[in-house]
Amino acid sequence: MTNRLDNINHLDALVHKLPGMAYRGIYAPQRPIEFASAGCQQLSGYPRSDFEDQRIFWADLIHPDDRDDAWRIVSAAVNTDKEFKAEYRIVTQGGGERWVWDRGRAVFSAGSDMIHLEGLLSDITERKQTESELYETRAFSEAVVDTAAEAVITINVDGCIETFNRAAQFMFGYSLDELRGKNIKVLMPEPDHTGHDEYLKRYVQTDEARIIGTGREVLARRKDGSVFPIHLSVSEVQSHLGRRFVGLIRDISLQREAETTARHHLEELAHVDRLNMLGEMAAGIAHEINQPLTAISLFSQAGKRLLHGGDVDRLPDIFDKLSQHALRAGDIIERMQSMARHSESARESADCNVLIEQVAKLAETEARLRDISIEVKAGPELPSVVVDTVQIQQVVLNLLRNGMEAMQSIDCRYGNVITVETKLRDDCEIEVVVVDSGCGVTEAVAEKIFTPFSTTKDTGMGMGLSLSRNIIIAHGGQLAFHNNRSGGATFYFTLPVEK
Ligand code: ADP
Repeated sequence: MTNRLDNINHLDALVHKLPGMAYRGIYAPQRPIEFASAGCQQLSGYPRSDFEDQRIFWADLIHPDDRDDAWRIVSAAVNTDKEFKAEYRIVTQGGGERWVWDRGRAVFSAGSDMIHLEGLLSDITERKQTESELYETRAFSEAVVDTAAEAVITINVDGCIETFNRAAQFMFGYSLDELRGKNIKVLMPEPDHTGHDEYLKRYVQTDEARIIGTGREVLARRKDGSVFPIHLSVSEVQSHLGRRFVGLIRDISLQREAETTARHHLEELAHVDRLNMLGEMAAGIAHEINQPLTAISLFSQAGKRLLHGGDVDRLPDIFDKLSQHALRAGDIIERMQSMARHSESARESADCNVLIEQVAKLAETEARLRDISIEVKAGPELPSVVVDTVQIQQVVLNLLRNGMEAMQSIDCRYGNVITVETKLRDDCEIEVVVVDSGCGVTEAVAEKIFTPFSTTKDTGMGMGLSLSRNIIIAHGGQLAFHNNRSGGATFYFTLPVEK
């Protein structure tokens, strides 16, 4: 007997120590309580005796708005002999409001119709508060994301779209329902469309970031198939739901359009500039063209005289000379035309090392014929440049030709190697350097070396360096030269690296 009492006391002590309030009551809408544990006072503010002596019923404490629901849950569980779990508010003795979690079940006693309820009430006010705060924060961030001007898209580690805000729907022309669960690659044109799964897999496996954490300009594809430029920045989010990626997208088509218009405008200006330059050069051209024309006239008269004198043997020679000078005049005119032609500069991202390799190949035969070898020294890991490849190749070719001619003019006395080298300078420009071992540039020539038609060569036109310098300046670079101590000259130009 003592043992049983001990057990009961022990159980009672345990129940009293439970957080919240353990109870036994009668199954009735008023929820009368026959026994309440000591936690009752803390939870409700009323001493448990108030309930046990039926001065107050549990239902009296339940918030009027929650009372019916709470009873519905309890009675539904009792009717099906299941455990009930209900969350509702109570009004405590001090008038305060608390959230409780009421869980328990019905106890049927033999020989009695009365059904009892046994259960435990816990105070969940704090949890509810956190929940509602979280809900509010979430609703707030969703509202922010949804009204953001930028497109916000979340994907999971498999690349499947989870969220797609309103701006994204507007930008891409898809609704969220059309895209939820679909692979993000539907929004990408080739080659990213095919490559994206692989990029993502590699990142997830190796954490080797290419785009994550940084922003980049890429192309995107709308629902109607049209492709447009965007600025994309991606960040990674870790949560209990796993790893996810959030992409922030800005449509930059308008910006690009404005840039293109500005570029067209500049090209227009460059064209006008070239025409002005042509005007200035007209006098020089007239002078230049006069030379072959005078020669043609002189040779024609000489031919006529020879014919009259019956000296026909020298006539073929005269005709050869005539043809040579006529071709030269033609050459000058063609150069002039090509300068005046309104050809748009086609700029593209290029690797200077590839570019100089190509030019070295182009000049190879010419070099071999002159018994000169071209050495290419490609600088390591050069950033790319944005250039009109053909124009820059023309410049390099021109520098190589000049150098080789200068070397040949002194029979390659100082050696027969001409080098073309690329270097990165101050991380912001690439320098292309052509070093020859020729005659060097005399002071007199140096003074007007970039002036059109200044040449020291019999067959030269003196246009190469002036055109080359204009091309380099139009690309935002500089073209200059100096004589080498060991003989020969070094011509070099810079190009800004691609931003
Ligand atoms: P062209 O080659 O038709 O003469 P350029 O404008 O290319 O026209 O060159 C102008 C002049 O500059 C050349 O005639 C030559 O006297 C001088 N020059 C150019 N490059 C070199 C060089 N590498 N070494 C010495 N002189 C040079």
